[in-house]
Amino acid sequence: MHKLIIGNWKMNGTLAEAESRARAIADGAKALAKVALVVCPPLPHLDVVAQALGESPALLGAQNCYFAEKGAYTGEVSPSMLVDLGCRYVILGHSERRHQMGETDEVITKKLESACAAGLIPIFCVGETGAERKAGQTEAVLLRQLKSLDGLRGKKLIIAYEPVWAIGTGLVPEVADIVAIHTFIRNNAMNLPQPPILYGGSVTAANAGAILAQSEVDGVLVGGASLEPASFLSIAAAG
Ligand code: PEP
Repeated sequence: MHKLIIGNWKMNGTLAEAESRARAIADGAKALAKVALVVCPPLPHLDVVAQALGESPALLGAQNCYFAEKGAYTGEVSPSMLVDLGCRYVILGHSERRHQMGETDEVITKKLESACAAGLIPIFCVGETGAERKAGQTEAVLLRQLKSLDGLRGKKLIIAYEPVWAIGTGLVPEVADIVAIHTFIRNNAMNLPQPPILYGGSVTAANAGAILAQSEVDGVLVGGASLEPASFLSIAAAG
């Protein structure tokens, strides 16, 4: 299976920057036959990025959606609106939404179900905080978060293991720990077909090779290092 390299641009950059970043990635993607690339720009940049990616093998994802299909939900965006814009993927359950926007497991579960129903492939993020890790609660936290997948047997989705303490900090777990946790997730996410499991948290061109070399790691979700096309493409080249 091709390793998946997904860029989460978060809330960064102008429309013009998004367009030129997407063009550079589209150009670079042609030479990267061994990996599958996805970019997740901010919502107002999706359309321009979709045009810039054109027929490139790099695909489009969004960073969030709401669970309702339509109605009086000011400021929200439905899964089918994202499909209309050319999105194939949507990130859900990201720790920044869990911890800064207060999204609960219940809300995330509903979002996952409605994204799947609209034909999007959710990139479902799970991971423990530093305090939970220190308290020996990593597995319990992951099991609680993975319960969001209970109603999604048979649906196509991706799981991203993103320890919260590793996101944007430059800290990365030992490769052996990543492998052990991916194995734990694989054994406890009972979805069939088995979802790819990605690692995310301070991935760079320097550490991607060792992480992607593990057969238990099906790809990486990249935040900061995905903003610079050269670094995103070198992470992809390591896959
Ligand atoms: C992320 O937020 O999904 C992420 C992995 O960020 P970073 O690569 O910047 O740690």
